Amino acid sequence: MKLKDGAMKIAKLKIKRDRPTRLGHPWIFSGAIESVSSEPERGETVLVTSFSGDPLGYGAWSPASQIRIRMWTSSVNEPIDDTFFQHRVTTALAIREGMNERFDTNALRLINAEADGLPGVTVDRYGDVLVGQFTTAGAERYKQVIVQTLMQQTDAVACYERSDADGRMREGLEVSNGLLAGVLPRMPIIIRESNVRYGVNIVSGHKTGFYLDQRENRRLIASYAKGRTVLNAFSYTGGFGVAAQVAGASAVTHIDLSEMALEQAKQNTELNGGMADEAARFLQGNAFQLLREFRDRSQTFGLVVLDPPKFADTKSQTMKALRGYKDINLLGIKLVESGGLLATFSCSGAVDPRMFRMVVAEAAHDAGRTVRILHELRQAPDHIEALTFPEGLYLKGLLCIVE
Ligand code: SAH
Repeated sequence: MKLKDGAMKIAKLKIKRDRPTRLGHPWIFSGAIESVSSEPERGETVLVTSFSGDPLGYGAWSPASQIRIRMWTSSVNEPIDDTFFQHRVTTALAIREGMNERFDTNALRLINAEADGLPGVTVDRYGDVLVGQFTTAGAERYKQVIVQTLMQQTDAVACYERSDADGRMREGLEVSNGLLAGVLPRMPIIIRESNVRYGVNIVSGHKTGFYLDQRENRRLIASYAKGRTVLNAFSYTGGFGVAAQVAGASAVTHIDLSEMALEQAKQNTELNGGMADEAARFLQGNAFQLLREFRDRSQTFGLVVLDPPKFADTKSQTMKALRGYKDINLLGIKLVESGGLLATFSCSGAVDPRMFRMVVAEAAHDAGRTVRILHELRQAPDHIEALTFPEGLYLKGLLCIVE
């Protein structure tokens, strides 16, 4: 096919490589592409066709990434212009209408990338402030209109950018942090999850500032915490431990590598009425090491929470990640008193729920303990998942009773 100047470039898929795209999967890997009519710019919108030339929709071109195209739409009647992004943002907001009340919070994920039809775009709301992450070439190209629409359609006072995720480097994009709109209030921003308050620093915190994906899990686990001693390993700014404190835990030990996170965890403990000095402990160090030391001293807890960072960035690291999960769960299980609880998580997308369950089962076996599941857990519903994009389920967890 010959293209006129200015006409859209066409990416043709290899023979029999169009099925996932037809089913609505948003990623097209470089190996599935037969040819492009001419080399698109970074982030440019291309028309995707099957080998035989059937149009399959429009996507954004990422020249530096293995995921060469991320689909914006499977409709060829939907031009990729400002109106398109205004619609996508409006829909994402409409889906979340009433969620603040339902989840009794002033902090929500407003846009969850692929699942909201906006690959590479993540937006969280903390009180009056929005925090955006734009991790792909396509997302970067349309950042302005997305932010403008959000500022118009919400009553937020500011939008801050935290585009410093690893994925952005894989796209060949520079880190980009800073104010995109409005005026930034003083840090930390105080958010609320039911009767628990957390200070969130969106400028210096991890990701967009806080792990909103664990909100419902914090609530559930806290409901079991009354009267228990809690070990909150990989605590970040206190999350599970502070929720447990408010719910009546008798003591909470927070462990994290990051001194800054623990400093915020201390402030969050105080913000929620404080605990007696000996009841709240903040240990800076490697959780693998510190849990081993507890084990060697035969120390036990009524509730052990394990919420480690991602151990696998890609599928190729899955085996290594599974060993990491096995080790930490083996240690964690040994520290649970008889009849106590273990809350254990994996946020590695490459580790699926069945694999994770298997690893915890192996750890239980090696620890010589009977471990039964009370609740199977996942990310909070504002972190919506697309049926056509199973990779979107990244956070899984188990709340178990250990005998
Ligand atoms: N549970 C938290 C989120 C945890 S994120 C919440 O609900 O908010 C994972 C945390 O693990 C990060 O704060 C990171 O600093 C910490 N971390 C990473 N590796 C660690 C290690 N080896 N030992 C202790 N903490 C670690």
